[in-house]
Amino acid sequence: MLKTLKSFDLKDKRVLIRVDFNVPVENELVTDDFRIRSALPTIKHCLNEGAKIILISHMGRPNGKFDSNLSLMPAGEKLADLLEMPIKFSDNCISEDAHDVTLGLRSGEVHLLENLRFHIEETNNDQNFSINLAKHGQVFINDAFGTAHRSHASNLGVSKYFNQKGMGFLIDKELEFLDEAMKAPKKPLTLVLGGAKIDTKIDLINRFIQIADHILIGGGMAFTFLKAKGKNIGASLVDETMLSQAKIIMANARGKTNLIFPSDLICAKSMNDKDSSIFNSNEIPEDLMGLDIGPSTIKNFSDVIAASGTILWNGPMGVFEVDGFHNGTEKLAESIGMATKNESITIVGGGDSAAAIKKFEMMHNFSHVSTGGGAALSLLSGNTMPAIYALEI
Ligand code: AMP
Repeated sequence: MLKTLKSFDLKDKRVLIRVDFNVPVENELVTDDFRIRSALPTIKHCLNEGAKIILISHMGRPNGKFDSNLSLMPAGEKLADLLEMPIKFSDNCISEDAHDVTLGLRSGEVHLLENLRFHIEETNNDQNFSINLAKHGQVFINDAFGTAHRSHASNLGVSKYFNQKGMGFLIDKELEFLDEAMKAPKKPLTLVLGGAKIDTKIDLINRFIQIADHILIGGGMAFTFLKAKGKNIGASLVDETMLSQAKIIMANARGKTNLIFPSDLICAKSMNDKDSSIFNSNEIPEDLMGLDIGPSTIKNFSDVIAASGTILWNGPMGVFEVDGFHNGTEKLAESIGMATKNESITIVGGGDSAAAIKKFEMMHNFSHVSTGGGAALSLLSGNTMPAIYALEI
């Protein structure tokens, strides 16, 4: 059984919470606090219940070495601002001093420990490291969805040392939208896919061929399919190693799901070329590349979205980071946002799509925006998440 936060008596207990504070930082300031805000419901619940809270997280990839640019101190300052209270911080997550601070906590206090990945033992899922982390708490709550597909000491290893363990509100919500909602979706179910890398989305496509009514494919990954169909894609991005896989997917989809590709594209010589024009997807000139979906594609995709009961979106429709090639992604985000208003379930699967809607200031236009990129893809592809499985009692 997987226990949820509300089933624990937390009063005066030391609660060790694995959060995902892997946030961008510039000049020692957090530039995007989405993941910290997403952990607040769990932290606030524990505070209201009178718990003593110990937070653990990673940031970036320091490969087992201290790196002042990857300190969790700025995340701690942001958290203190959001909670409107001071918090304690220890600069080594398993030192004697850190354990002493934890043992001295009073109910209603928060102790954040420094970046777990300053110790190589974290990603090695080292047993002694897990034991040392476990010493901080009497109850273990995992609320770090972004790393739930990883088998590390702070999510997998540590859970062995707790009888009282469960998931926080964020993981609970992510499972509700990315797992439960996909088992019995409000129909029609539409998957909208984009982005550059096709190989990271193959498992997802193969699963959704079985369950989705429509799969809309835009972004750079569409060109591998268009080339496999024999179209002239000019100098557009293509993954030659995936051409045969793309053919297999299209053959498997026949009669099961409606696989739809761009009919027109915004093309230019490069991402820096301001001189772009619209071409039919079969007529891209040799020296041009498709960098965004065109107006007919936006219309086709938006019509399918408007008629869908559930829409899952992962990956931008073009090079949204560059003005001039952002329009397709923005317009589809608007269409999906409109579907939310019309009571469709709309889910943004994290990663670059989440970055895009942040850029367009549309974070609140969807039923759910996932905090995990790789974790969301893994769960949606039907994989079991080791760190969540480990919470079963
Ligand atoms: P991914 O990590 O696979 O989701 O890829 C995201 C990246 O795909 C973004 O940085 C986009 O700029 C890029 N992208 C989207 N469409 C295209 C395209 N048509 N050509 C090249 N890159 C693209």
